[in-house]
Amino acid sequence: MIDLESRARKFAGKGLAELTDAEVCRLLEGLVRERAAQMPTNPGKRRLYYLSAEFLIGRLLATNLINLGLYGEVRDQLAAAGHDINRVEECEVEPSLGNGGLGRLAACFLDSMATLGLPGDGVGLNYHFGLFHQRFVDGQQTALPDEWLAEQAWLAEEPTSFTVPFADFSVTSRLYTVDVLGYGRGTRNRLRLFDLVGVDDSLVPADSIDFDKDALRRNLTLFLYPDDSDEAGRLLRVYQQYFMVSNAAQLIVAEALERGSDLHDLADYAVVQINDTHPTMVIPELIRLLVDEHGLGFGEAVGIVSSMVAFTNHTILAEALEKWPLAYIERVSPRIAEVIEKLDELVRAEHPEPQVQIIQDGVVHMAHLAIHYGFSVNGVAELHTQILEQTELRPFFDLYPQKFSNKTNGITFRRWIMACNPALTALLDHTLGTDWHRTGDLTGLLAHRDDEEVLQGLAAAKDDAKARMRDFLWHSQGVRVPEDAIIDVQVKRFHEYKRQQMLALYLVWKWMDIKNGNIPPRPITVVFGGKAAPAYTIAQDVIHLVLTLSKWIAADPDVAPYLQVVMVENYNVSAAERLIPAADISEQISLASKEASGTSNMKFMLNGAVTLCTLDGANVEIADLVGEGNIYTFGTSSAEVERLYREGAYDPAAYYRRPGIKLLVDFLVNPRFAAMGNPERLRRLHDDMAGHDYFMALLDLEEFIQAKERVYADFEDRQAWLRKSLVNVAQAGEFSSDRTIAQYDRDIWHLR
Ligand SMILES: *Cc1c(COP(=O)(O)O)cnc(C)c1O
Repeated sequence: MIDLESRARKFAGKGLAELTDAEVCRLLEGLVRERAAQMPTNPGKRRLYYLSAEFLIGRLLATNLINLGLYGEVRDQLAAAGHDINRVEECEVEPSLGNGGLGRLAACFLDSMATLGLPGDGVGLNYHFGLFHQRFVDGQQTALPDEWLAEQAWLAEEPTSFTVPFADFSVTSRLYTVDVLGYGRGTRNRLRLFDLVGVDDSLVPADSIDFDKDALRRNLTLFLYPDDSDEAGRLLRVYQQYFMVSNAAQLIVAEALERGSDLHDLADYAVVQINDTHPTMVIPELIRLLVDEHGLGFGEAVGIVSSMVAFTNHTILAEALEKWPLAYIERVSPRIAEVIEKLDELVRAEHPEPQVQIIQDGVVHMAHLAIHYGFSVNGVAELHTQILEQTELRPFFDLYPQKFSNKTNGITFRRWIMACNPALTALLDHTLGTDWHRTGDLTGLLAHRDDEEVLQGLAAAKDDAKARMRDFLWHSQGVRVPEDAIIDVQVKRFHEYKRQQMLALYLVWKWMDIKNGNIPPRPITVVFGGKAAPAYTIAQDVIHLVLTLSKWIAADPDVAPYLQVVMVENYNVSAAERLIPAADISEQISLASKEASGTSNMKFMLNGAVTLCTLDGANVEIADLVGEGNIYTFGTSSAEVERLYREGAYDPAAYYRRPGIKLLVDFLVNPRFAAMGNPERLRRLHDDMAGHDYFMALLDLEEFIQAKERVYADFEDRQAWLRKSLVNVAQAGEFSSDRTIAQYDRDIWHLR
């Protein structure tokens, strides 16, 4: 039992009812910290260190209360004192430590490791201004520093501090910890974030993310992914990565020593999962520490490190498979460059094939380093792993077939339904009991396919989520969404391969169709959200197209009552928690073969949305689970897309010339439309689509339009639609990150 009333008096000298929502938020944060402080960390000789450049953890109050088993009690006591717990939750500032799916995956994994009682901590950096805060000005994205640190409650400063030696100078670090509480477990893990002593926030102006990239002693932990369009930015990224992995490696060695390791047996004490290529330099850094600081032989050190580092590949996009000039690494740390050169020589001696070398033409291929000197390589969905094995990493798979495995991504149910969708959670609890919180098993719902009460319960839960979403959009950006609208959502980073531009072209088509008198039976609201990398011009142009379309349609009285385009500003975890439960339709329309897995597809499914998708990433697995009739698939297959690339056989101009497509693409340069936006941006996007279209939006456009019309028509058969929705929820258990983490532990980590 907790007594919030007496806590309020102690905390602020007034009754609970007298506190502001923000004060209640502080009070509850204190309560959680107090509980966490009493919890031991998960025990185990071998500890997992999950190294990641990003942790997109989201707000923590609600999920921490859920995981402590206190949420219901707190909600009821607050309600009795006149406080709405949702309003209190909104007072928490969302930490800005991540970018997109990769960082969110890391956060879901932390929750699942703690829930399964596995000794595993996250290790990363404490970015003072995060990625950036997105604001729309004149229909365009502007990037502002995200000042999340000023008001956060979860970071605790630790005594731990290391010296990181760069070529010409050294810096000192400081460790901060965020407790990670398992669901109903009584133990905790930690997210461990290193910061730079002497980091200087004043390098960053209030209204932009430009700063002095050369001030390395003061800037290393200011931003996640600083702009790398110039050399100073690229060098800064290497400095930042080395700062991250040197701290991680020193932490790993120090903790192993403390727990009795003689370092010859380090692999019995630690296993390192590197989340994409950013932390790859932990391999040479661990070797450096073992050899230079602890006197082990080079060969032995290589053997030890190779048996304790595992690598997750997240993408097949060339831009994300990092390659750094050896000269950059030499400037940052000559010793690390030297270790990498030795590792490269060892590979050359055994494997002469040019395509598997670590250093090629003076450039270090980070993924190659991770694959040769790690013991495990995994992809993140079945299709993705298959593409890695058969195509992208084929020469490595031929060398080391036993290292490769698939670990399909997952999401934590504590956040992605229990915290964000109370009405659906209550329905599931009522119908199935609460075992699914832990097992993820929702298949019992299938027996209720024809249960009118459950189907109506699903409809009511969706209405409840829609009301919460309308409230959110109204309060956050003054947008009114009609009560009976279909909610059709594409939220994710803006990238050409995700093909937001294809959905935008559909909207042009739909606007024309309505203009021609084909009035939809109910209003349609299409919601976009997502950030674009500041140096990624075409993605910025697509954001601009969406914003301009939104304005254009809203200004047309013939169409506005039936079609609405909403672009959510500063899409983040908190926004996702409001939007995803409300969605009827989940847009997962990437060019097949390009989306490694996706995880928002899983969140939508769990919340009862029906997926409209290409057979890409984990969509393939979703389609297998729900079966035909409960998902809408369209588009060119992954194998055919791969063939088109291989043979250079895709000709966008041929598609552009088709009359139905030309009309839509040319709308971007229609003088009246262009006058509503930035003609230069729209012209550039038009020309790119018509003549380049690297991610083949025009290839699948006609099929996409047909599929969308089918989905909207089917939505009107309410009973049949609710049944589809039910099947999606019922089959989502496969995508619990508890399942994913159990597999990592069983196949890779062996923590217990
Ligand atoms: C889940 C999530 C993502 C990943 O979305 P994808 O559609 O899988 O790319 C990105 N951002 C946020 C805020 C998320 O919650």
